[in-house]
Amino acid sequence: MSDDGLAGAAEMLAGASALLVCAGAGMGVDSGLPDFRGNEGFWRAYPPYARLGLSFAEIADPRHFAEDPELAWGFYGHRLEMYRRTEPHAGFGLLLRHGSRLPGGVAVFTSNVDGQFQRAGFGLVAEAHGSIHHLQCTVPCGPDIWPAEFSPDVDESTMRARPPLPSCPNCGGLARPNILMFGDFDWLSARTDAQMRALDEWRRANRDAVVVEVGAGRAVPTVRRYAELASAATGALIRINPREPEVRHGRGVSLPHAALPALTALLDR
Ligand SMILES: [Zn+2]
Repeated sequence: MSDDGLAGAAEMLAGASALLVCAGAGMGVDSGLPDFRGNEGFWRAYPPYARLGLSFAEIADPRHFAEDPELAWGFYGHRLEMYRRTEPHAGFGLLLRHGSRLPGGVAVFTSNVDGQFQRAGFGLVAEAHGSIHHLQCTVPCGPDIWPAEFSPDVDESTMRARPPLPSCPNCGGLARPNILMFGDFDWLSARTDAQMRALDEWRRANRDAVVVEVGAGRAVPTVRRYAELASAATGALIRINPREPEVRHGRGVSLPHAALPALTALLDR
């Protein structure tokens, strides 16, 4: 790995009083999770959807829970099991160990719904798009959000879930993941809202936190925007991204690499 940016980034981290990690889908790729970006990558991971001609955005449309629950739960059930099986790569542990040693500690803002940061041991995690490890009613009949404790049974040749599908304990209707989907007006945001309040409080106490942004592209700009705003006053932004690494001049350091090699090179220093 070339030294461009690395020395500056390491210096920034060495002087940090607190660490804010902002992570997008690219963070999970080195753990072996599929990349949903573009139809080719998505269909390579899920050949049945290539046969059905369904893109990621199309299969992630919440209307399937009303129109074809077994198709909807086939996708989310398969992912739930995959995320349960996945071990977070070593970059998670490197960030956690470094951040935990700082006076202000470490916090996470992520658009990922996979629960990998909690699994790696992070305490303060704000999941902007919700979590696949939690369920809510599809109606929804009430405000409840509860842990996903069932084992989905998915036929991998059709990507359809076999009944019984999870149900709402209040009304008996179909349950769904507490994830913000595309064109989703029924997502219950209370769990994410509470996480965001905790993160806001942490940020008020750690205004000079160094921001490490990992694997957050422009396609879903939530994480990039958050990282830029959180570092706007200090310019202390380290952007790790192999495809879209650009930072505005003077507003941070760019490492044009994948998550694991960049974090290893950075935190080994
Ligand atoms: Zn219900």
